[in-house]
Amino acid sequence: MREIRKDPIHNRWVIIASNRKNRPHAFYREEEEVGSKKECPFCEGKEKKTPPEIDSFRASGKPNEPGWEIRVVPNKFPALTSDGEPRKVYNGLYYKINGFGIHEVIIETPYHKKNLFNMDKKEISLIISMYKKRYLALKENKNLKYILIFKNHGKIAGGSLPHSHSQIIGLPLIPPEIEEEIILVEDSVKCHYCKLIQRAYNENRVLKRNKDFIVLAPYASVAPYELVIYPLQHKPCFEEIKDSEITSLSELLQDVFKKYNKVLGNPPFNYFLHTAPTALTPRVYKNYHWHIVIMPKLTMTAGFEKSSNIYINPVEPKEAVGKLREAGEEL
Ligand SMILES: [Zn+2]
Ligand SMILES: [Zn+2]
Repeated sequence: MREIRKDPIHNRWVIIASNRKNRPHAFYREEEEVGSKKECPFCEGKEKKTPPEIDSFRASGKPNEPGWEIRVVPNKFPALTSDGEPRKVYNGLYYKINGFGIHEVIIETPYHKKNLFNMDKKEISLIISMYKKRYLALKENKNLKYILIFKNHGKIAGGSLPHSHSQIIGLPLIPPEIEEEIILVEDSVKCHYCKLIQRAYNENRVLKRNKDFIVLAPYASVAPYELVIYPLQHKPCFEEIKDSEITSLSELLQDVFKKYNKVLGNPPFNYFLHTAPTALTPRVYKNYHWHIVIMPKLTMTAGFEKSSNIYINPVEPKEAVGKLREAGEEL
């Protein structure tokens, strides 16, 4: 059963996806072993263990055969399904949409032990290129109002399989988190994010910049060592990224993850890409500024955060930047 239910009180949605309880490590258990290479469905040579591929970058071979560098497959336990069309139902107190959507998995490497902490720039740039390729393909589906690209690394951060992968969920609605960001910029004269970047410079929270991108710790970081990457030039839409910019973004990402590895030791993390919704016009989102948020999973969020949507962060953002800078340039 799949449904997208609007909370009758709060501005939030819940995807009820009862099929997902059968997936590996569906519910977190402290003592569980992380899956080994032997049984990994994402390793090269195990192509038959996943649903047939949707897309790939390949050095050789045919679809669903070895020889790939990046492989995209439907999620075996999708939170949403693209069967039919989105249908909205108002029913007195309740508002819901049927479980319409897209759920894809991007297998980032054929190698079980490769991940963002040890990949080279070329490997990372292939991942970003595939994000762009899938985003552009899914943007054609007019039933999708938002396309969310995200990554969970490590079991505690929600990574159900250890083999490095990202996910794409295409939604028939704009998530409240994005709605809030759009409302903020819709009527403003100048981009709010450009102002925040300037403030981060003034307040010494910039970790690094190159010719196209900047990475900084946000003023009110939710998670310890949280970082956000912005294009330096004001750009609302991720999918317009050029090849040369993919190269500089990959350089920056590689450096960030090397620093994380040195300071925090291969921490579990989540990252996600926020870009302008496909469902809105440029007039509405022209002041939006796309970005990638990276959150190491170093603390547990629990009762207080769930009850209040207020977070406790034990590391001052400027201090986090200082520690990461100390990791040095030559890593
Ligand atoms: Zn594997
Ligand atoms: Zn901007």
